[in-house]
Amino acid sequence: MDKPLKILLVSSEAVPFAKVGGLADVAGSLPKALRRLGHDARLALPKYRQIHGAKFGLTKVLGSLLVPVGSDHELASIFGSVVEGMPIYLVSSNKYFSREEVYGYDDDGERFVFFCRAALEMLKALDWQPDVIHCNDWHAGIIPNWLETIYKDDPFFADTATVFTIHNLSYQGIFGPKLLEFADLADYGLIPHPKDGELSRVVVLMARGILFADVVNAVSEKYAQEILTPEYGERLDPILALRQDRLFGILNGLDYEVWNPATDREIAVNYDAASLDRRVENKLALQREAGLPLDPDILLVGMISRLADQKGFDILAEAIDSLLELDLQFVLLGTGEERYHRTFAKVAGKYQGQAAVFLKFDGALARLIYAGSDAFLMPSRFEPCGLGQLIAMRYGSVPIVRSIGGLADTVQSFDPTAGQGNGFAFSDYSEEALVAAVKRTLETYRRKDTWRTLMERGMRADFSWEVSARKYVELYHKALELKQVGRWQAGN
Ligand code: ADP
Repeated sequence: MDKPLKILLVSSEAVPFAKVGGLADVAGSLPKALRRLGHDARLALPKYRQIHGAKFGLTKVLGSLLVPVGSDHELASIFGSVVEGMPIYLVSSNKYFSREEVYGYDDDGERFVFFCRAALEMLKALDWQPDVIHCNDWHAGIIPNWLETIYKDDPFFADTATVFTIHNLSYQGIFGPKLLEFADLADYGLIPHPKDGELSRVVVLMARGILFADVVNAVSEKYAQEILTPEYGERLDPILALRQDRLFGILNGLDYEVWNPATDREIAVNYDAASLDRRVENKLALQREAGLPLDPDILLVGMISRLADQKGFDILAEAIDSLLELDLQFVLLGTGEERYHRTFAKVAGKYQGQAAVFLKFDGALARLIYAGSDAFLMPSRFEPCGLGQLIAMRYGSVPIVRSIGGLADTVQSFDPTAGQGNGFAFSDYSEEALVAAVKRTLETYRRKDTWRTLMERGMRADFSWEVSARKYVELYHKALELKQVGRWQAGN
């Protein structure tokens, strides 16, 4: 177990290079945490137009890499650098990546298949042989598939295991069958879905990652179980069931240097668990910023989120009038679906002086909300891991969550008799359950000593990458072990 491993993490996004969602936070932090544990972790991602060479000290390490596409080849070049101690490889192609956005193009299938093929060919050209290729979400799902097909007899990858991580099962990378030709997999054909005729006629890159990787994991233990059910399986639960004996859950970590109320430059006053009395200055600053009455005693509920169905905005929209009948203030920061923009813009108008709504992306305001709110609301329909509740706890804002996925793994509902718990949780996906949880929060908030205990518990908990990176190392060893066993023998 102590042998340092060589790991290539393959991701379509990573902080600080390109970020669309939580995947970027994981891909930016995990390899660094692995390196701190003594492993040689490196990162591969596409070189999007927004990534500036000079800023990251990029140099060309491979000028014209021949990348097989279908029966032909296209050229890629590879740029490299060492950023904050971590070696990175960026796959460059004018044709596929020199564009404004990271995703959303008709040829996204070809773009990410090309990226993955270039990453594998790059390893051979550089003669850097990883023990594990860690593939993330659908964009890298083709790699485990290739290692079991066209690269199966390639001695270069004979000892390389694959890990496939599901960050969000609802984005699956579904494309027409022509993509198989591009991926050089036409000879192997489509893969029938055990139950779904429609999915049997298309290429589902997420499913291929799940089916062919040596081990599969999701970003929390609870989510790993939930996705085996039809309710949360997004039509892939029968595929996941085939790999159930190799499906694990590892909670994402939080970068404790990036998220630290003792050093955060964006908040009004720095504080830690030992100086919690200072925190109220942030609440007053937030109330000022939000145009709410300055009141240190009223319960201030914050929320920062994509305005999407996943995040529970339909039940929140139903609950909002009942919630704002309670003695509390509400601040929402988020962007997303237009209909929720309209709904919550109206809420702000109707409840002026009690509710403030910021329909934008604003990192600095987000930090002030984490530092200045008393409670942090996440009523998600599903939540693979969730970062918001972890940041909130780190900043002393007590989470109110639906007990689901990563939220269930990190927030235990306060039990007044036993005195245990670190937040407030509800189970039913309903307006009533949400309102009831906020009422319980309000009752507890009035008992100052109990509330302070809850704040301190959240602040003292350890959700750092250190813990999660160690679990990934165990998972990599498991992948290497199971690679020897073979793909289907381990219990099937
Ligand atoms: P997801 O990745 O599904 O959107 P997470 O809870 O895992 O949800 O992560 C969301 C992250 O994005 C958190 O760090 C949150 O603070 C941040 N965030 C979301 N919306 C905004 C916004 N409008 N402004 C600033 N930060 C935001």
